[in-house]
Amino acid sequence: MGKIIAVANQKGGVGKTTTAVNLSSALAIAEAKVLIVDMDPQANATSGLGYLPHELEKSVYDAIVGDVSLDEIILETQINNLYLVPSKIDLTAAEIELVTVLSRETRLKKHLDMKKDDFDFIIIDCPPSLGLLTINSLTAADTVLIPLQCEYYALEGLSQLLNTVRLIRENLNPELKLEGILLTMYDPRNNLSKEVYRQVREYFREDMFRTIIPRNVKLSEAPSHGLPIISYDIRSKGAESYIELAKEVISRR
Ligand code: ADP
Ligand code: MG
Repeated sequence: MGKIIAVANQKGGVGKTTTAVNLSSALAIAEAKVLIVDMDPQANATSGLGYLPHELEKSVYDAIVGDVSLDEIILETQINNLYLVPSKIDLTAAEIELVTVLSRETRLKKHLDMKKDDFDFIIIDCPPSLGLLTINSLTAADTVLIPLQCEYYALEGLSQLLNTVRLIRENLNPELKLEGILLTMYDPRNNLSKEVYRQVREYFREDMFRTIIPRNVKLSEAPSHGLPIISYDIRSKGAESYIELAKEVISRR
């Protein structure tokens, strides 16, 4: 049975999508069969894997609001073994439309539970909010992976996120576990990066990934080519670090 990992943090720009796309593709080249689910209306994971969101006929919206089967929505990617449930801007409406829908928190779970046997990993890229799309993601997930950007306000908002995780555990998904805290955009020349590392290490200990994602310009260039880092520049520090992360995730499986 596949493991479902939600990549979540209500802050924007912390490396959720970069992590979801590059962890997924690194897992896929390690021979795992992987499904990435784009739950962000901004559809950066979708475009980062080479699809133009506005040209897509169907998206995850049609599954969670319209109850269309994922089989009709799943796309292949350039990476062998990596499949995508795309997003497009219509997903913005889901946040509002779902409010009045029955079992609105478990819409995604219902669909992913049917696909769990077909994949080794299902990675969900969450939007930068704690609304119904993130709640659906955390309700469907086995674990949550939290990227933290190495910057001054790194820990700000984290207690709110951990509180949401606790509430989901108490009310919707008792088995939800923490996959780990992932430091992103680490710059060893920057004292602040080191300070964030020290603080997070002290607080989270084993819950922190050993792998740290460095700030690497190749990681920021790859999406504009519609490519994951392993296809764009496999020898970059960025590619190396996400391959390490994939190994760690597999060893925790
Ligand atoms: P989120 O999904 O949390 O909003 P993104 O993954 O889109 O964050 O990252 C925000 C921006 O930072 C993007 O432009 C991305 O290319 C860039 N970025 C992410 N991780 C790195 C990194 N390790 N090094 C350099 N740039 C990065
Ligand atoms: Mg994103």
